[in-house]
Amino acid sequence: MQIELINQSKDKISLFVKDTNSTFVNTLRRTIISEVPILAIEDVSFIKNSSVLYDEMLAHRLGLVPLTTDLKSYNLKEDCKCEGRGCAQCQTTISLEAKGPGTVYSELLKAKDPAIKPAFDKIPLVKLTKNQALEIEATAILGKGKQHYKFTPGLAWYFGYPEFSASGKSNLNVISEKCQALEVKGNKVSLKDITKWTESQEQVCEENGVTVNLSKTDFIFNLESFGSLSCKEILLEALKIMDNKLDDFEKQLKKLK
Ligand SMILES: [Zn+2]
Repeated sequence: MQIELINQSKDKISLFVKDTNSTFVNTLRRTIISEVPILAIEDVSFIKNSSVLYDEMLAHRLGLVPLTTDLKSYNLKEDCKCEGRGCAQCQTTISLEAKGPGTVYSELLKAKDPAIKPAFDKIPLVKLTKNQALEIEATAILGKGKQHYKFTPGLAWYFGYPEFSASGKSNLNVISEKCQALEVKGNKVSLKDITKWTESQEQVCEENGVTVNLSKTDFIFNLESFGSLSCKEILLEALKIMDNKLDDFEKQLKKLK
């Protein structure tokens, strides 16, 4: 297997993964979205809420605010020494106090652990008018995407590297006009910029007589973090989880007689 970096920004990474198969890249994708843990608000106590939103709606919105996560400092509740009762190693308290008029943004969420804060400051939670107020105390815990989507660290997707074959009947003018990712020279279509390649361009190709073959061994793997962890942290944690599962399988297999 070979990996090349195509693109990297603060919360997005694109990798060219060669000489592998869809089973591997899909396992990586599924591990990211359902197994890599992050912190999210789980329980909310409302001390005051005179806003127009019901407690339940606000609690739901609070749960979806991405929180910066330090995986080394927190355990999953089920793996914690406290046996799920809740301690400083598996949960943190977050409070919020606001008075109207004005919009309440995520930046007002203050965690007991100074390392934990909203990944984005300006996520609107609710609008308060004059004399309305909000006071809450919440608990954030580490969880996995397979329990609730709020614990999913990011969006991961992949596609096979495209190759093109044009025939005499291909309408290449339309393709060079509509497909930014492609280059047309004579009657040959080739990829100019993979970062601009989209599924809609694949459709344009097919409609205009150019066959697109997606590789079964070379893939473009994309990951967009929701802000709790960096893309590299997400990928490394996912690989660690895959590795641990294989170790566990090996251990159990060796025990069999
Ligand atoms: Zn604990």
